[in-house]
Amino acid sequence: MAFIDRTEIAVIGGGAAGFAAAIFAARQGASVLIIDKARRPLMKLRISGKGRCNLTNDCSDQEFFDNIFRGAKFLRSAESRFGPHDIMAFVEDLGVPLKTERGRRVFPVSDKADDVASALLKEAERLGVRIRKGTVTGAISVNGEITGVRTEDGDIECRSMILATGGLSYPATGSTGDGYAIAGKLGHTVTERYPALVSLKCEEQWCAEVQGLSLRNVSLTCRRGKKTIYSEQGEMLFTSDGISGPLVLTLSSVIAGSDMKELRTEIDLKPSLDRETLDRRVLRDMKENSNREFRNSLGDLLPRSLIPVIVELSGIDPSKRVNSITSEERSRLVSLLKALPVTICGTGGWNEAIVTAGGIATREVDPKTMESKLVKGLFIAGEILDADGATGGYNLTIAFSTGHAAGIAAAERRNRKMNAIAIDGPGGAGKSTIAKALAKELGYIYVDTGALYRAVGLYALRKGADTHDRKAVAALLPDIDVDIRYVDGEQRVILCGEDVSGLIRTEDVSMAASAVSAQPEVREFLLETQRDLARRNNVVMDGRDIGTVVLPDAKCKIFLTASAEERARRRYRQLLEKGEEADYEAVLEDLKKRDYDDSHREIAPLKLAEDGIEIDTTELELNESIKAVLKTAKERLGLD
Ligand code: C5P
Repeated sequence: MAFIDRTEIAVIGGGAAGFAAAIFAARQGASVLIIDKARRPLMKLRISGKGRCNLTNDCSDQEFFDNIFRGAKFLRSAESRFGPHDIMAFVEDLGVPLKTERGRRVFPVSDKADDVASALLKEAERLGVRIRKGTVTGAISVNGEITGVRTEDGDIECRSMILATGGLSYPATGSTGDGYAIAGKLGHTVTERYPALVSLKCEEQWCAEVQGLSLRNVSLTCRRGKKTIYSEQGEMLFTSDGISGPLVLTLSSVIAGSDMKELRTEIDLKPSLDRETLDRRVLRDMKENSNREFRNSLGDLLPRSLIPVIVELSGIDPSKRVNSITSEERSRLVSLLKALPVTICGTGGWNEAIVTAGGIATREVDPKTMESKLVKGLFIAGEILDADGATGGYNLTIAFSTGHAAGIAAAERRNRKMNAIAIDGPGGAGKSTIAKALAKELGYIYVDTGALYRAVGLYALRKGADTHDRKAVAALLPDIDVDIRYVDGEQRVILCGEDVSGLIRTEDVSMAASAVSAQPEVREFLLETQRDLARRNNVVMDGRDIGTVVLPDAKCKIFLTASAEERARRRYRQLLEKGEEADYEAVLEDLKKRDYDDSHREIAPLKLAEDGIEIDTTELELNESIKAVLKTAKERLGLD
């Protein structure tokens, strides 16, 4: 079928995330087409922050993640590459000076969101990004890879598609969530969506009586069962059918998707006074007003409109003289002031929700590139993802930061045709030495996958877990962040932000690595990290299951081996050279046991891949082995 248009990258949705993606992709030299159904792009950005555009928050990384409700772990990588300070520099470079206000909220000095929108538009235009008005109805994919975009006007050919259609909040701006259906059709899970950063409805009729009343310095606490899920001090206000204001908006995000019936919520009207102090204060007020009726005695304590409400809820006769109020009644009053209950029964609608909670499940998206793990060439960014944060610029930060990651990765994908050399084999066959030499010769990166298992082993040891206990180790995985980086061409292993490259080479860690590497959960957990490296780089990767499991499509798979005796001799010599005591027979014994374990384990056992080439180095010197492997690799990759 004929295409009506063609581009390298199609960005669906011209909002903050879409523009960030488009600009950064175009800066890498990609041809980019933004498709948006609105006549005017960036509509929501223009009305954000009451038309002033609170575009980010000038906060530290830690503070940023403290303000993320869903998706914090997922966002870590994108935020570290393009976080609040990068966003500020980016926008200022586009010619929009910024200022930071209360709560570190960042705005344009002009207080005009339109200035930010115009700057983004101008930059996109300068880079040759085209904008097309149109409604996207789906994607075209062949063999699990994007090849085009379907629109109501016809099909558009593309190599990558960035889905940035936003959420469901503010539908008037064009955010009607079309992208969820597109992603759903491609196999993505879309979690339930709820309005977030939104007012809350309450059962209490009295809210209407105090509608418009704003309270400063109160605290709002919400519990589910015995657990306090939210407790903060600040401002809130009453609406015709419930509560709103900063404290309430945040609470709405915390409880998004909860069963409201399980929640108990209360307002502490006097958070700075503890019960006893407040009781003394009430007693003093009562003494001063002893002859007044109760209903006329609370003027110093409460805003006028709230007095009748408190009087009624206290159950104390309004016309009772203050001096005849009993201590039990006073205690009830104090309790009420410290914990005025409100019963949340719903939220405001999408029209007023600032953001969407829920969306495309982030576990199906690569956190570094925003590329779908299900469909090649599909990238997902912005509010459509199941990630959201507090007011104060956090949600726009998510949009910019995920948009940036997607744009760069989609652009890089254009020239992606990576070669992979998989080197498997038993311990001691010389894999790492040969792989390193090969990588150096070819200009590829060398990936030592054993180091990843070692890092997981180290983590488990540090947590005091039994490394043979599959369940215990699996329970640790969600908290583990392990990554490989290269410093001066050397592989470094980063475990939860810490470079542990040196620490993983001990005997204890070897044992732990060996134990955890036999566990399916651990293998699954490390699989993406390994594949991701191979997706984005030319690699020589060594391990036990690289050719069979990790990179089954690698063009060159080498199974490096040598007789057990020869391998034991090499290891034995190495140990002696290091000045360590060694017993040849023991080394041989140990090696045979490891061989047996590696090749007999249930999951990913060590074996020659069907299309692998076995190279036996028993009779070869090291440089002869390198030569042999290099020759095979070049033949397989067609490099000469
Ligand atoms: O190669 P190295 O000794 O560093 O590997 C550490 C542990 O991880 C070993 O027990 C090895 O069997 C295991 N491993 C694995 N799969 C890989 C790499 C290493 O099971 N791809």
